[in-house]
Amino acid sequence: MDKQAVLRHLEERAADFYVLSDKIWDNAEIRFEENQSAADYAAFLETEGFEVTRGLAGLKTAFRGQWGSGKPVIGFLGEYDALPGLSQKAGTPVKEPLVSGGNGHGCGHNLLGVGALMGAVGLKQYLETEGKPGTVVFFGCPAEEGGSGKTFMARENCFDGLDAALSWHPDFRNMMPPGPVLANNAVRYSFTGKASHAAAAPEAGRSALDALELMNIGVQFLREHIPSTARIHYAITDTGGNSPNIVQAHASALYQMRAPYTPELADLYERVNRIAQGAALMTDTQVEIKFLKGTSNTVLIPALDEVMYRNMCAIPNPVKEAQDLDFARDIVRTQTQEMPESLFELSPKPWNRAGNIPLPGSSDTGDVSWVCPLSQCGTSTWPVGTAAHSWQAVACGKSDFAHRGMLYAGQIIAATAIDLCENPDILETAWKQHREKTGGNPYHCPIPPEITPAELEAEMT
Ligand SMILES: [Zn+2]
Ligand SMILES: [Zn+2]
Repeated sequence: MDKQAVLRHLEERAADFYVLSDKIWDNAEIRFEENQSAADYAAFLETEGFEVTRGLAGLKTAFRGQWGSGKPVIGFLGEYDALPGLSQKAGTPVKEPLVSGGNGHGCGHNLLGVGALMGAVGLKQYLETEGKPGTVVFFGCPAEEGGSGKTFMARENCFDGLDAALSWHPDFRNMMPPGPVLANNAVRYSFTGKASHAAAAPEAGRSALDALELMNIGVQFLREHIPSTARIHYAITDTGGNSPNIVQAHASALYQMRAPYTPELADLYERVNRIAQGAALMTDTQVEIKFLKGTSNTVLIPALDEVMYRNMCAIPNPVKEAQDLDFARDIVRTQTQEMPESLFELSPKPWNRAGNIPLPGSSDTGDVSWVCPLSQCGTSTWPVGTAAHSWQAVACGKSDFAHRGMLYAGQIIAATAIDLCENPDILETAWKQHREKTGGNPYHCPIPPEITPAELEAEMT
């Protein structure tokens, strides 16, 4: 069975994969709670002849499915978590929750996981019929949204031994990433002071709220002196109470910091910590700094991205023939007055040899990319202008065009994996580039050892 036959095989079996993706969409389970979704994948993989290990790295909804033996070992990364509060009826071009206050697949992870699964099944089909060596590993990676699932998995060495990892993300374009996603962390700063009556005995009080405000002001001044691609955001999560006449004895904020390169982020984190300590010093209060979670930037590997891009260009995109283009048009209308020339941005956006245009988001896929060479594409599963984490993205999740965009992604991933098995020199170059980009440094998990998935889950809920 050659590559073309594998791609036809996936097309012929597409309906099985669409059913699984729709089931994941229906269940819409959020981070750490993806029990039914993980079970559905495990059952599917076992039927396909994969050996499944459930529960990895302290995450009960993480799993791996393995088939085959020997080199190369290719990993396929699947996600399946939904987002809270984004419930939306499928195929409906108006904002209308399916379940009031319920969850929804706003990031298209129902498609993401199944598209990656198609890649794994495609490679298995190829190796099995050709009688060639190679190990196919599908990773069920939970809690991408705010849970750093892959980061915990990388910390527990789940991705060690891979020769390469492949994945994709639903998008409104067909593209290779022009640069890394940003390294990201979330840190809670909690100040403790001393309560006192603000009129009767102000001298006895030490204001935690003053400290927090001074910290925030310090960070505003810091912004001028950080890389322009770095980001700092915060939310005040505890103001210390509603009474102005009581000196606030406690106050806290949740900070998120991002930078294009993990070591830059470590530097930024230390600087923000010093500002917090300075604010505590100025106000005679104490500050507790709690690092909650972090993800690394993605290390781009041009040798792999080029192969994936070539497959993206070579494989016919089936989205144009979708049966529900009227619905796609209605979705576009909810986002713009002027109809664009085309409902989908299908012309593939090339890989960028310089890889120097950071994407202003973050993903725990970055942590896998520090362990082994990784490549991932975006494919057009949503009409132009559709943003991730929107009700429109949820509404599109079970559409014919989304299914077809997922099939296209699965075919690209399968074809890329086959190329890697057929050309060991690509993997050799990929590892050389990986060593250059990471400076040969081993993966360093940004989450401190004392933070476990259970602890993070408790903090984030
Ligand atoms: Zn997302
Ligand atoms: Zn996502």
